[in-house]
Amino acid sequence: MVGTVANAWAARDSSGHLSPYSFHLRETGPDDMVLRVLYCGVDHTDLHQVRGELNSSTTKYPLVPGHEVVGEVIELGSEVKNFKVGDTVGVGGVIGCCGECSLCNSNLEQYCNKMISTYNHLYQDGTTTQGGFSSAMVIHHRFAVKIPEKLAPEQAAPLLCAGVTAYSPLKQFMGTGKTIKGGILGLGGVGHLGVIIAKAMGHHVTVISSSDKKRVEAMEHLHADSFLVSTNQSEIKQAVNSFDYILDTVPAFHPLETYLSLLKAQGKLLVVGAVPQPLQFLASDMILGKKAIMGSFIGSMKDMQELVDLWVEKGLTSMIEVVKMDYINKAFQRMERNDVRYRFVLDVAGSNFE
Ligand code: NAP
Ligand code: ZN
Repeated sequence: MVGTVANAWAARDSSGHLSPYSFHLRETGPDDMVLRVLYCGVDHTDLHQVRGELNSSTTKYPLVPGHEVVGEVIELGSEVKNFKVGDTVGVGGVIGCCGECSLCNSNLEQYCNKMISTYNHLYQDGTTTQGGFSSAMVIHHRFAVKIPEKLAPEQAAPLLCAGVTAYSPLKQFMGTGKTIKGGILGLGGVGHLGVIIAKAMGHHVTVISSSDKKRVEAMEHLHADSFLVSTNQSEIKQAVNSFDYILDTVPAFHPLETYLSLLKAQGKLLVVGAVPQPLQFLASDMILGKKAIMGSFIGSMKDMQELVDLWVEKGLTSMIEVVKMDYINKAFQRMERNDVRYRFVLDVAGSNFE
């Protein structure tokens, strides 16, 4: 399929506003598949990217966001053997890598020097990559995972970025033979999946939230073991030195001292929230207790497939709000004011792109 036109919603500038946009899909090669996009999750990174907050000097407008893409395969290249027309597949934040380096060969391809992001990047053929807020997409088969029939496609969407972002760093705490005490800081898209995943791994899970508003949902719907309000000094004091890890999903500036104090000796602060400003901590907060701050970027294709399969095996359910494409500007506004339980998923195939 050459030069097929896709209908999408794009940002034209850094205002945060999207509007309808059409563009030509890149030409397909023998390893590529054409997808009809069914659903796409809305991640806070989409908003950071649209606003040019993460790398403003290289932001490419018009920019079609979306990297939690679930689509139906409608066309296959001659070399694609692991998928067939009609399959439901998932695409996350990465759509290209060198395929040869040590990182690519050890399931760490998201850290490859030649990694290509799903949107706001250049593909090998020089075309600008565009994401899943679009009726169709061309994808190299290596960057698609199988979505089992038992998993509803709208449920699968948030796993492809938010879910794997929590799963990949939490995986390292599995199977150590003792009770792992974990904290999930920020109960949004990534955070709520972090709670579900950490519970599925058998951890003792505490939600650390900026207010009391989500306490009942966290305890009753997401089955967290405990809930801590980050501004409540007496609750915080009681929890000092009690966590093996804290998964920090907060997208806005927050000093790290409090959270480092909550970690046990040798505990880890796993930073996944892409705060656009410099973060802040005292060296002694890490030194006294041999504590670590580490970052983690989404997960590998292997992690993504494992997570999708885990979801089906354990019968897990994420909490999503399905909306049509023309709701996207409202969805961004609501996400920004912390008014989503807990992930918007766009019904792309069911939307009108006029
Ligand atoms: P989200 O749905 O907006 O959730 C963020 C949560 O952080 C909110 O629900 C809120 O939880 C808490 N929060 C505290 N202070 C906030 C503030 N000033 N503004 C907004 N939220 C605040 O976002 P998300 O989609 O989960 O993404 C979270 C962050 O992770 C973003 O920065 C995103 O770019 C990043 N991310 C990184 C990766 C990666 O690979 N590392 C992948 C995906 C996303 P409470 O109400 O509980 O306080
Ligand atoms: Zn590589």
